[in-house]
Amino acid sequence: MEIKNIKSTNIPAFFDQMIKSGKVVIAPVLKKSGKVFFEAVQSYDQVSTDYIQTGFSAKSVVFPKVEELFSFKKDDEGIEITNNLHTIPETVVWGLRPCDASAFNYLTEFFLKENPDTYFTARKEKTTLIAISCAKADNACFCTSVELNPGSTSGSDILLTAMGESVYIELITEKGKAAVETAASLFTPGEEKSKEEFLAKVTSVFSMDEVKVRIKTAYDSAEWKHASMGCFGCGACAFACPTCTCFDIQDEGTQDSGKRLRCWDACGFGLFTKHTSGHNPRTNQTERRRQRLMHKFKYSVENLGIVSCVGCGRCIRNCPAHLNIFENILSVTK
Ligand code: SF4
Ligand code: SF4
Repeated sequence: MEIKNIKSTNIPAFFDQMIKSGKVVIAPVLKKSGKVFFEAVQSYDQVSTDYIQTGFSAKSVVFPKVEELFSFKKDDEGIEITNNLHTIPETVVWGLRPCDASAFNYLTEFFLKENPDTYFTARKEKTTLIAISCAKADNACFCTSVELNPGSTSGSDILLTAMGESVYIELITEKGKAAVETAASLFTPGEEKSKEEFLAKVTSVFSMDEVKVRIKTAYDSAEWKHASMGCFGCGACAFACPTCTCFDIQDEGTQDSGKRLRCWDACGFGLFTKHTSGHNPRTNQTERRRQRLMHKFKYSVENLGIVSCVGCGRCIRNCPAHLNIFENILSVTK
C-alpha cells in the first residue's frame, strides 16, 4: 500500500483543493443541536473535527433517502421516460469513520451481487471515501467485536490517521491516489508504520466466531422478548444505520406525468410486512427486532458472506427505548 504524509496544517489546503477541482465534498458539520451530520460544504472552515460519530451515516451518498428512479411524461406524441443518472456529480465523502467506510463493502455486495443496481453503481463509481481513524470512542462503539478496528482500511479509498503534527495517509485505491494528486505538492512519501498508539481503545464485547455459530439456533430464544422490550417501531435504528438497505417504491403523479421513487424503509415498522390482504406475518416488535438482528448477524452472512453490522453504535445512541444491539446479541446467543 502506498503511504504518504501531510502536515496537519496543510489539511485545509488539501480539502479546499478538492472543492476547487469541482468535486462535491460531503463532510461532518456541527449543527445547532450539538450533533454532527454529513452535508455538502464549501470550505474546510465548515468542517467539524471533534466528533466520535456522525448522527447519520454517509450511506445516503450512494443510497439516498428518497431517490427518483425515473420520471415520465405522456402526450399525443407518446411517452418520454427520463432519469437523472447523468447529473450525479463526482463526490468525496470526507471524515467518515473506518466502520462506516467498511459498511460500503456490504452496501456494494447487497446492491451489486445478484442483480446489479444501476443507480447504486452510478453513485458508487463517482464517490471517493476519505476516512479518518478514530482517536476517541464511546461506550456504544464495538467495531472490534465485528472484526474491524478504529484504524481499519477496509472500504476506504484513503485513510487518514492523525499523528501529532502530521497525518499518516494510507492510499488504498486508485481513486484515493487520484484524490491526493489534486494537491500533490502538499504530500511527502512515507513508510508503513504502526498506528496503534494514535487509535482509540475499543474493547471487544463478544467473539464474532462464537456469535456466528450460536445465532444459528437463536431464533427461538426466549431472550428476544427482553431484547425488544420498549421498542415502538420508530425506525431510528435503521435510518441511522450505515448498512440497513430496506426500501420501498412509491409512484407519484397522474396518468400524464409522474415519477417513481425509491425510499428508505425499515423492518421495524409495523407496516413493513403487511400484505394487501391485511395479514401481517410479523405481528409484534419482538418479531421485528429479531428480524433486524438475525439479518445483521445470520441472514446476511448466509446470503452475502458478510456480517452486516459494523459496530458503529448509532442504533444504540439513537434508540429512544435504550435498546443495545450488542447486549441483545450477547443475550440471545448465550
Ligand atoms: S430505534 Fe429503538 S425503538 Fe426505534 S425501532 Fe429501533 S429498536 Fe425500536
Ligand atoms: S446495526 Fe447498529 S451498530 Fe450495527 S452498523 Fe447498524 S447502526 Fe451500527
